[in-house]
Amino acid sequence: MIIEFLGTSAACPTHYRNTSAISVKPLDNKQWILVDCGEGTQHQLLKSKLSAFHLDVVFLTHLHGDHWFGLPGLLSSRSLMGATSKLTVVGPKGFTEPLQNFLKVSKCYPEYPLDFVEFDPQMQNLGTFLGIKVQRVSLDHDLFCSAFSFQYEEVPVNFLNDKATSDGIPDGKCKAILKSGEDLELGGKLFLSKDYVERLDRSQRVIICGDNRTPECLIDFISPCDLLIHESTHVSEYLKVDGPGQYHCSAERIATFAAKHNVPNLCLTHFSPKYQSKGQNSMNLIEDESKKFYNGNLIIADDYLRIQIDKNRHLSQI
Ligand SMILES: [Zn+2]
Repeated sequence: MIIEFLGTSAACPTHYRNTSAISVKPLDNKQWILVDCGEGTQHQLLKSKLSAFHLDVVFLTHLHGDHWFGLPGLLSSRSLMGATSKLTVVGPKGFTEPLQNFLKVSKCYPEYPLDFVEFDPQMQNLGTFLGIKVQRVSLDHDLFCSAFSFQYEEVPVNFLNDKATSDGIPDGKCKAILKSGEDLELGGKLFLSKDYVERLDRSQRVIICGDNRTPECLIDFISPCDLLIHESTHVSEYLKVDGPGQYHCSAERIATFAAKHNVPNLCLTHFSPKYQSKGQNSMNLIEDESKKFYNGNLIIADDYLRIQIDKNRHLSQI
């Protein structure tokens, strides 16, 4: 899948960063998934390789404005573009009524089927979208907030057809038996399935988190994880001054958690606007603090950053 960041700023947009929005797209599909939709996301899309026309489903982590104020405009523009395919919006309990009211008072009636699905804190499995299984877990924030995991349901299997043929195994039923995981007895000889089937140990899984003060909320959710995308709104110094009323995470806190749980790739986003200028409060503070506690592959997200995870779970920036 390909992950693209459409907004990486916390609370307000800045000159270089828009508010939260992240896309998830299968490698072999034009259709895609959006996680959060800060104000101006539709404008960000115009500068990306994505089109609202092919948007299939939107997931909302929570209802703070910087995570969903862009949604009514995006829904409206998608209709004006002539899109006719169904769009599903999945979000926390309570989002449907205000969104429907917003559309109604604006006399905005999208021409395509629009499906709203609400979840509550007890729901873990949200369904399968574009072949990707989506699950959620609750986070620690001052509004009901979620992390989502995106995982291909099928474990990829590679059948070593040439080897089977050269070992005298005929096409058809005999090969199908080996491919299904069963051993095969043929001509008094036993052929072991494991000698002909390469199974990847698991399929790729990406976790995208909403705002979260306490990374330990993810303990039962984190494994397996190829890529963890988490907010780092501040550095720890700021949280020490501001105290426990801050419902956001520091670079130290999430980096320590990722190191402890052997997360191979950690991507930080949702940066306070105060770190985005040059000088004392530069983004280097976030990066330097993270590197003190985490030795894995650290990525500091920028708007339009694209990360590809291929079928062998190899990760690259494209
Ligand atoms: Zn929030």
